Amino acid sequence: MKRTRVRFAPSPTGPLHMGGVRTALYNYLFAKQKGGDFILRIEDTDSHRFVPGAEKYIIEALRWCGIYPDEGVDKDGNMVSVPSERHPHAPYRQSERKPIYRKYAEDLVSAGWAYYAFDSSEELEKARAEAEARGETFIYNWSTRENLRNSLTLPADEVERLLRDTTDWTVRFKMPKDRTVRMDDLIRGHIEVNTVTLDDKVLWKRADELPTYHLANIVDDHLMEVTEVIRGEEWLPSLPLHYLLYEAFGWERPGFAHLSLLLKPVGNGKLSKRDGDKLGFPVFPMLWTSPEGETSHGYREDGYFPEAFINMLALLGWNPGTEQEIFSLPELVESFSIEKVIKSGAKFNPEKAKWFNKEYLRLESPEELARMWMPELEEKGVKADEKKIVEIVDLIKERATFVSDFWNIAWYLFKAPAEYAGKDVAKFWKEENYVPALQACKECRTGEELEEWIRRKELPMGKIMNCIRLMLSGSGSGLGIGDIIRFIGHDEALARCEAAAKALNSQAG
Ligand code: GLU
Repeated sequence: MKRTRVRFAPSPTGPLHMGGVRTALYNYLFAKQKGGDFILRIEDTDSHRFVPGAEKYIIEALRWCGIYPDEGVDKDGNMVSVPSERHPHAPYRQSERKPIYRKYAEDLVSAGWAYYAFDSSEELEKARAEAEARGETFIYNWSTRENLRNSLTLPADEVERLLRDTTDWTVRFKMPKDRTVRMDDLIRGHIEVNTVTLDDKVLWKRADELPTYHLANIVDDHLMEVTEVIRGEEWLPSLPLHYLLYEAFGWERPGFAHLSLLLKPVGNGKLSKRDGDKLGFPVFPMLWTSPEGETSHGYREDGYFPEAFINMLALLGWNPGTEQEIFSLPELVESFSIEKVIKSGAKFNPEKAKWFNKEYLRLESPEELARMWMPELEEKGVKADEKKIVEIVDLIKERATFVSDFWNIAWYLFKAPAEYAGKDVAKFWKEENYVPALQACKECRTGEELEEWIRRKELPMGKIMNCIRLMLSGSGSGLGIGDIIRFIGHDEALARCEAAAKALNSQAG
């Protein structure tokens, strides 16, 4: 059996969208499950769409997710340019592989599968306009190629001359006129497409001596011994061409799997950055700063655990076939199967993403969570020993979705309230509540003692306790009173009660 080798082949045209991360993840899971290799290849042959910083972003985002390529990137996160035992197919950036492709394009011409095209962009524009005037769409293929300027129509010596003396020619694939291409997709099953409406795609351009996506992709998948191509469904329309390219070269074809799109949370259509902006969720794994200085927030900065993000993405389009929802990366590797990837689009649910984070937060140890919270506490100038922070975290973590929620939940364990919630004041700040509440706080040192005291006096437990909480925390709801007193100490509790009484009574008076 051949060793499984898959690749993630992004074009550095911008930040990696969460759909791209999912494609990388599925490739990674597929490779690891089969004990194979996961390759990162940068497809940067389209210089017009190149965005500085995008490649670095892609690599960093994958690393944040815990997806480490076996080949393509070194341990410092740089694309590998020089072949080595670990990275035998370097370089892995297509722009650095430029000299490789021309020969393959010319081989196809010699074999009759491709031809040289000399049409200028003006000529093509004109052909397009003429077709439009007739109410047709121009396609460069069997229906038009006989009337255009290419090596199929021009005399051989003229072709020779143009190849030698001009630099804006291309190599085009000679798409057969009437062939039914029979294809198999690991997710979608059998597909048949007739070539009659397909066009003669440009494979290589003399102007920049670069291949287009189609040629570079097929040549590199072959040279890098890729066994399965797992990619987004936007590439499905290119599959007949890719099948024919393998046939033309006489190469063994890899298996193909086209992943369905991630869909908007509401309505129909592809999940976009605009949906994220509108509904307030990130569509990028990490913060992205465009070359123009515009920023977009990411899951990392929004406080998501990479494990939660990955877990959520894995289940967005893959059905494990059981009730289990929480999967660690090794568990995903073990359970994943490409056959159980759903054919239809997967609707993204931002609330579910939060739910995953909450679950992972709950699974995290209080020590680790305390360590994550520490920088914020330091920034706020809070001084507390680590042991106490760990205890607080343990107390509040069930109430939080993100570490950044901790402060809102527990700030009053570190400092006295400076104000009191108006609606709770209106509700609980009544003489029949605060007089006994203050008395109770003087006499009792713990939550249990307080409860016992209120019970003994046959006073309404809820009202008195909420009144005490209002004095201790500024609000009638929140952590248990016993817990608050335990953390701030009895002296501080009493001081807060007295300060609250003074403030609220002078307000009222
Ligand atoms: N460079 C292509 C992209 O960015 C890769 C498609 C493929 O995996 O074949 O989507």
